[in-house]
Amino acid sequence: MLISPAKSLVSGIFDLLLPRHCAVTGRPLAPDERGCISAEAARAIRLAAADYCSRCGAPQGPGVGVVSVCGRCKDFKDGFGTSEVVAVGDYEGSLREMCLALKFGGARAVARPLAAWLVAALIDRGIDKKIDVIAPVPLHAMREFGRGYNQSALIANQVAKALRKPMLPRLVARTRATERNALLDVPTRRKNVEGAFAVRKRMAARIKGKSVLVVDDVMTTGATIAEAARVLTKAGAGDVFAAVAARSTVGADSA
Ligand SMILES: [Zn+2]
Repeated sequence: MLISPAKSLVSGIFDLLLPRHCAVTGRPLAPDERGCISAEAARAIRLAAADYCSRCGAPQGPGVGVVSVCGRCKDFKDGFGTSEVVAVGDYEGSLREMCLALKFGGARAVARPLAAWLVAALIDRGIDKKIDVIAPVPLHAMREFGRGYNQSALIANQVAKALRKPMLPRLVARTRATERNALLDVPTRRKNVEGAFAVRKRMAARIKGKSVLVVDDVMTTGATIAEAARVLTKAGAGDVFAAVAARSTVGADSA
């Protein structure tokens, strides 16, 4: 991205007055380190670039290539109702720190690099050409009010801007509050999100026969993504893809 000299002068002055800190390591960032994470934190992330599961987005070991089902998603016998799931990488190390900073630390700027990696993966896999609209997994209104934002919507917004696709932030509604999925065992997670989402009636016409990319921050069992895909398909979406910042086996699902 080109930055005008005036803009870079202004941001340079800001950096002097308010030094930026890496959202992962906490160390002050050098003036030439753009964004919100340090170079070493970014390098430590193992991107699911060439070795991944197209069904659930999980990174695979080096040299494995692309698989259509893996150890982490084989128990979801009917899949997630999605054509493909894209994840930046595993929910570990720097990537986990970034997700936590975004979700609980108020570090909204972290959405940018997460979205940039997702965009690169979506383009690499040709999914950018298949999707028509983008929507985030919603938070319950009370939780969003408490946090001040929906972290998945921040990522989705950046992805939509980069891919120049319509962003429908209020396409899916969370119709009831759910327990934090991270605290539940796997069968209970599915029950927990069952019937928790609905496509807003006035928005349904926007997705009839269209391909929807649904964006979430962390995918654990996939119960949340599967439920979102189910209501989108029921409302008439032609196809559903999912993009998540991190693929987890334990820990935080969408909350
Ligand atoms: Zn998989």
